[in-house]
Amino acid sequence: MKNVFTTEIFNNISDIRQRIKKLKSQQAVIGFVPTMGALHVGHESLIKRAKEDCDAVIVSIFVNPKQFGPSEDYDNYPRQLELDREICSKLGVDLIFSPTVEEMYTGESGSLEENCTMLTPPESLQNKLCGKSRKGHFNGVATVVLKLFNIITPDKAYFGMKDAQQFVIIKKMAEDLNIPVQIIGCLTVREADGLACSSRNKYLSVEARNKASCIYKSLKRIKESYDSGINSVSQLICLAKEELSSDVEVEYLEILDMDTLTPLNTAKPNALIAIAARINGVRLIDNLIIDKCDIKN
Ligand code: AMP
Repeated sequence: MKNVFTTEIFNNISDIRQRIKKLKSQQAVIGFVPTMGALHVGHESLIKRAKEDCDAVIVSIFVNPKQFGPSEDYDNYPRQLELDREICSKLGVDLIFSPTVEEMYTGESGSLEENCTMLTPPESLQNKLCGKSRKGHFNGVATVVLKLFNIITPDKAYFGMKDAQQFVIIKKMAEDLNIPVQIIGCLTVREADGLACSSRNKYLSVEARNKASCIYKSLKRIKESYDSGINSVSQLICLAKEELSSDVEVEYLEILDMDTLTPLNTAKPNALIAIAARINGVRLIDNLIIDKCDIKN
């Protein structure tokens, strides 16, 4: 049967606040999934989890200029609101919040240079992994997520473990700033060959796409080697590199403590194995977690 439900879209902060006030007056538990759109099965898994846990689910679709560097893909980032709305409708999402840049950044274009109070997550969580090459990226992420939390006031918010550094930073922000929201990490959804689903996979040529699965294979090699008794990080990294095709340019491949993001010399439970690599110019990230009891890979 054809889906007859259509998710309502709000572009305006005061309108969605009104609507949420009504939901809250009915004691609805509100689940929130922040996204930049171009929804895929990874996003869908977050939405499905929120639907299971909550009475009402709100998805934001906002390509946030403040988390893109000047030479990054902000202008070309895929935008497909009507298709995203169909996906949200099919999944029973109650509301979509899709503001303009002007609405979110009060009349500014939202570029990094312009005046706006910006949140700065702790340096110790920012100065590594993606934060090293994407200066200011996590200031932009934390700022927009805090703004979205203030607008939506969700009870629970869902984030993918694929963006592990983002998850750690947002969780810390919510704790440090006493934001009354539960931050929930969800498993990475993968293609059949192991490549983590990402809106940026669309940029890969057929040839690059075929090679891209070696990124996951390299992470799995570390996990399997650890399970077989090897815990020296330098040895594990060497083994992982054997899996990577020669045209994969590795930006980082590291093993760190999952909570503090401190690099480790010896792998241990609750360690994050994280990689960023470029294939044919497309930057992809992925990770696996060693032996974490509440999040399984
Ligand atoms: P984005 O639209 O890329 O900002 O992602 C929105 C949310 O979806 C973030 O919390 C991501 O971590 C999550 N996400 C992206 N890709 C995946 C995936 N393959 N599996 C699970 N969650 C994902």
